Amino acid sequence: MIYNSIIETIGNTPMIRLNKLAKGIKGEVLVKVEYFNPGNSMKDRMAIKMVEDAEKAGILKPGGTIIEGTSGNTGMGLALAAVAKGYKCIFTMADKQSKEKIDILKAVGAEVVVCPTNVTPDDPRSYYSVARKLNADIPNSFYPNQYDNLSNALAHYETTGPEIWKDTEGKITHYAAGVGTGGSMCGTAKYLKEQNPDVVTVGIDTYGSVFKKYKETGIFDEKEIYPYLTEGIGEDILPKNVDFSLIDHFIKVTDKDAAVMTRRLAREEGLFVGWSCGSAVHGALEYAKENLKEGDVMVIILPDHGTRYLGKVYNDEWMRNHGFLEDKTYSTARDIIS
Ligand code: PMP
Repeated sequence: MIYNSIIETIGNTPMIRLNKLAKGIKGEVLVKVEYFNPGNSMKDRMAIKMVEDAEKAGILKPGGTIIEGTSGNTGMGLALAAVAKGYKCIFTMADKQSKEKIDILKAVGAEVVVCPTNVTPDDPRSYYSVARKLNADIPNSFYPNQYDNLSNALAHYETTGPEIWKDTEGKITHYAAGVGTGGSMCGTAKYLKEQNPDVVTVGIDTYGSVFKKYKETGIFDEKEIYPYLTEGIGEDILPKNVDFSLIDHFIKVTDKDAAVMTRRLAREEGLFVGWSCGSAVHGALEYAKENLKEGDVMVIILPDHGTRYLGKVYNDEWMRNHGFLEDKTYSTARDIIS
């Protein structure tokens, strides 16, 4: 098999059984490992779809510039699409994102504008506002806007959902995913619920995000919004790609529980994955412990790769500084003598 370009290698990622971490849970727990995509995350799927839909609609023209606000992974997918198709890229990112993510985007030829994290979305300095301003200022530029661009969820409706249905031979009973833009949860959920309306969906949210409270009360509560560390999930806005009718339950996971579970995925399952994967697995297992029955099949989506978090959750010192690591590990001679 010879591929015509890197973008043809997107999708068809493997589904792997959780062995040690799912001990004691009735039913089966599987993870879909999205770092096998060429940009090392599931966002490759929606990035190429947003670009190709814009080309078809005549919004993105030859020689154009793609401008997007991204937590890193969408940027990588867009950058790969841009390289393959000859576009320029400028990305705006919040300064809480890991340095690795910024460096990776620069490595594939993108320009990156770093913006402050702790400002409101409508503040002119926010990464949303800066992306919109660049789009207005730069001629022949395209702003995909992954939050409200429904090609995002559609990519998962057309690829992630059918892959899960096929790989589980239609036996999936529960689908769990972190919710950021909502595309991977809601596009996949729509496809799965169309095949079997009894499929239960569990959205993973963070403390500091509005989703869970909004689902449960219909109230957009600004008191729910405060800074948190986990990257990629939770929001202070309600993106159009989040269709609350497709998400049956929300579970909130702390930064610490997510970080600890991320490291366990690497060390106990050999899954060297990103931080939001720890959120998804921690939250999904919490739900599974109480609710899964013999014969049930839960699939959890693991969005990205661990390299992007080497300076954070995989760094013992960083973990200790945040109070996330309590066990003693020996990393220097001084640790051993003292
Ligand atoms: N995890 C990571 C690492 C991400 O980059 C994203 C995308 N924001 C998500 C989870 C959430 O995915 P979605 O945007 O499809 O809701």
